[in-house]
Amino acid sequence: MTTHAGVLGTSGGLATDFDGRVLDRHQQPIPGLFAAGNVSDGVFRNNYPGGGATLGSAITRAFAVGEHLATSLAPTCPPLPANAGAAIPAVPQAG
Ligand SMILES: Cc1cc2nc3c(=O)[nH]c(=O)nc-3n(C[C@H](O)[C@H](O)[C@H](O)COP(=O)(O)OP(=O)(O)OC[C@H]3O[C@@H](n4cnc5c(N)ncnc54)[C@H](O)[C@@H]3O)c2cc1C
Repeated sequence: MTTHAGVLGTSGGLATDFDGRVLDRHQQPIPGLFAAGNVSDGVFRNNYPGGGATLGSAITRAFAVGEHLATSLAPTCPPLPANAGAAIPAVPQAG
């Protein structure tokens, strides 16, 4: 059986604001640098309270980063082609 190393969680990490912008020592955003999940300090800052505490934060904060980037970059991006997404196969439905 092959085994792989995994990271259960981290205590501390890169400080971010809610949009996931990494903050410098003066609490100012570093342009173009974003973080979420185990590389960031998350909602528990410099603490790791225990198992089951990190996945929800990672997903939520990553969503916030993506939403912020989509909003802030949208005016600079060319429009998507009309058939964008057509190549993405449908997700099979259960049942
Ligand atoms: C066995 C186990 C059980 C866990 N159970 C729970 C639980 O029950 N509840 C809970 O809340 N949390 C749980 N966790 C913790 C949770 O899985 C992590 O906190 C969460 O996955 C962190 O998400 P992440 O996106 O920050 O990092 P990851 O999920 O580790 O994702 C990082 C990704 O980056 C990729 N990567 C790494 N280096 C590079 C590189 N140089 N270039 C490109 N890609 C790279 C990796 O392949 C990986 O896909 C568990 C963790 C483990 C290991």
